[in-house]
Amino acid sequence: MNVLVLNSGSSSLKFQVIATDSERISRSSEERLCRGQIEWMGAEAIATFHTRAGTRQKFAAALPDIASALDYLVRWIASEESGVTEVQTAAEIDAVGHRVVHGGELFSESTVITNEVLRGIEDCIDLAPLHNPSNIQGIRAAQQVFGPEVPQVAVFDTAFHHSMPEHAYLYALPYHWYGRYNIRRFGFHGTSHRFVAERYSSLRQLSSEQTNLITMHLGNGCSAAAIRGGRSVDTSMGMTPLEGLVMGTRCGDIDPAIVSLIAAKEGLSTQEVEVILNTQSGLLGISGLTNDMRVLLRELKDHEDRRTRLAIEIFCYRAKKYIGAFLASMGGADAIVFTGGIGENSPEIRARICAGLEWAGLKLDRNRNQRLIGLEGQISTEDSILHAFVIPTDEEMLIARDTAHCIANKWHHAGMESH
Ligand code: ADP
Repeated sequence: MNVLVLNSGSSSLKFQVIATDSERISRSSEERLCRGQIEWMGAEAIATFHTRAGTRQKFAAALPDIASALDYLVRWIASEESGVTEVQTAAEIDAVGHRVVHGGELFSESTVITNEVLRGIEDCIDLAPLHNPSNIQGIRAAQQVFGPEVPQVAVFDTAFHHSMPEHAYLYALPYHWYGRYNIRRFGFHGTSHRFVAERYSSLRQLSSEQTNLITMHLGNGCSAAAIRGGRSVDTSMGMTPLEGLVMGTRCGDIDPAIVSLIAAKEGLSTQEVEVILNTQSGLLGISGLTNDMRVLLRELKDHEDRRTRLAIEIFCYRAKKYIGAFLASMGGADAIVFTGGIGENSPEIRARICAGLEWAGLKLDRNRNQRLIGLEGQISTEDSILHAFVIPTDEEMLIARDTAHCIANKWHHAGMESH
């Protein structure tokens, strides 16, 4: 089946077409047929498409809304230009899988979208006011473009962390805030953490019960997850993606008292302070230079800038601290898995995070670490007790897989009911 994977954000619509089904999934022989994105720059939309052969095509178009953008990209996929011979008309797209940021407490797994599910996603808007509305617009646009015959599936960033126990997800706040306002930790990047955990178990030929890992998703957004028996038992992000590790522009953990103190000192509202914590903090805030780790590493090498060094040190220190905390809370792990733009591509950051973890049995293999840039493999020595791996994440692939599974299950159940 040809699955269109959609990630509908506030200023962009990203897509991939992936050919998959249960048999291809079991053989890991899914095929990515094309991908691309449409970004809005004011009134104009810029479409960047990658054909099946990998050639990049760029177009400017007047696309007033998500539905027109979706219609535009589907016509491109079906055209000869994309090189996707499997899809010659929109009718050859068999299903649509949507990335949905927040599933709250309602959704513990991916699910076929019905009116009730859509209402549930709307109910979670309070928890992700910047993300869920765009995700919903993407779903409605797809319903408009493909009609009711084409099944759609929602895959939630939060779902994988649904298995966290109460003692990990509750904050030490007045308990009735939880009941009244759903104040708790949810965790994010679940699709990425789950993808690399599943990939790790298949690489090592482990059952999910045997999978005990700490996964480090280090990109612009960063989070760590403690995975015990294949299930998430803790993660660093909280009620929102602001908690936890130091990120590109987000602060991660801070003393909450800072918010009202800075609001008073600078004459800002608490909402304005929160915007600064999200957009002007993290690597950017400390370095005063950029949120881009590649640039920071270059700057440190070329100019030995003090604040750049601090930004990198604080980033790595916090990551190491979470690894230590999770090792303690989950009673040890078999491996640490690095993923995300920084985790996949920066041997230097991985080495800094792993340095000093010898007490936990981790011995980094310098050569392997240096060699694995954007590639999958082990970066610890064979005799390590705690291993380290790099596994490039592929959230779209997991969304396509879940979409195929959900639809197969639905047909299965529909078949059973009619008997
Ligand atoms: P997002 O979270 O937006 O998906 P990515 O996962 O693509 O972001 O990660 C972006 C981060 O990865 C940036 O900080 C970027 O500098 C960093 N990055 C990409 N390549 C390298 C590299 N070779 N060395 C260090 N950092 C890198």
